[in-house]
Amino acid sequence: LALPGVQKLSPYVPGKPVEELAREFGLDPASIVKLASNENPLGPAPSVLQAVQRALPELTRYPDGNGFTLKQALSERFGFELSRITLGNGSNDVLELIGRAFAMPGVEVVFSQHAFAVYPIVTQAVGATAVQVPARNWGHDLPAMAAAITPATRLVFIANPNNPTGTWFERAEFEAFMASVPEHVLVVLDEAYTEYVEPGEALNGFDYIERYPNLIVCRTLSKAYGLAALRVGYCISHPQVADVLNRVRQPFNVNSLALAASVAALADESYLAESRQLNRDGMRQLEQGLNELGLQWIPSRGNFIAVDLGRDAGPVYQGLLRAGVIVRPVAGYEMPNHLRVSIGLREENQRFLEALAGVLAQ
Ligand code: PMP
Repeated sequence: LALPGVQKLSPYVPGKPVEELAREFGLDPASIVKLASNENPLGPAPSVLQAVQRALPELTRYPDGNGFTLKQALSERFGFELSRITLGNGSNDVLELIGRAFAMPGVEVVFSQHAFAVYPIVTQAVGATAVQVPARNWGHDLPAMAAAITPATRLVFIANPNNPTGTWFERAEFEAFMASVPEHVLVVLDEAYTEYVEPGEALNGFDYIERYPNLIVCRTLSKAYGLAALRVGYCISHPQVADVLNRVRQPFNVNSLALAASVAALADESYLAESRQLNRDGMRQLEQGLNELGLQWIPSRGNFIAVDLGRDAGPVYQGLLRAGVIVRPVAGYEMPNHLRVSIGLREENQRFLEALAGVLAQ
């Protein structure tokens, strides 16, 4: 039988696939709007498609197991030595490597209420104890999280911005937190959505890598870089931490199409700028539209927004599905009255707002 911690887990529930909804309600898949998985609505950059095309003839070969070219590109872009970089099959893979390398039965892992669902999975899968700290105003209560650290704590997961709430913390809060974390604790700062935070405003975890040897900063190519299907994430850490992660990493965990696409994506500044602009505009559009509907929402720095329906969100979610709009219920995150909506193209956001108005009027 599974470990007790595993028995208590619920499987991760992804956004409902378009094909599934189309079949269920007899809808044309092309008519369905999916704003459920915080994906980049722009579609892949032409530069990325070309890079993938160029990599196709090598399909019979194993990928570069150390991801040298991608690490080189990351190093050039962000200024880190290769020895600090760990690549993953999505940042979920990186989170799992961290759990497998540093957690075990008897170890406590601290994270916030309403935090990303993968933190309890990677904790409990290795028999460690999850310590969930109540959130404050939907966001991480960093002082309370620091206070929850015991001699048994080995890892703390914090996300900035957090998913599914979109909440964030500032430099001063983070620095005060790091100052109160003992050195035996590794802090995993998950910056999956950091590209959407306005420059200058953002706490950039990379600025702190030299200062805090117990800090691991995770990032992904799935969101602003638009590569969710290919699964590429990475973390920057002290070289000794990277060395440990490399020991538990599966060989060839990042495939060659993903490696090639990531190198191209990192070089494509204009795609990134366009993604960010689209998100900025779409966020404003959704905020305004939700205000017009008289709905509350949690201010977000991500590419999604959590809407408060003031009542069980389940029936509204179902109503939206019938209208061909897929969003994400977050009852599993102890947010039964909210729905999380990813920022889409202008027309997609409009479809969502109209469908929501229709459902609420029923
Ligand atoms: N961290 C957070 C906070 C996320 O929301 C996500 C994506 N849902 C991830 C990590 C993982 O993303 P990926 O595995 O696609 O890199």
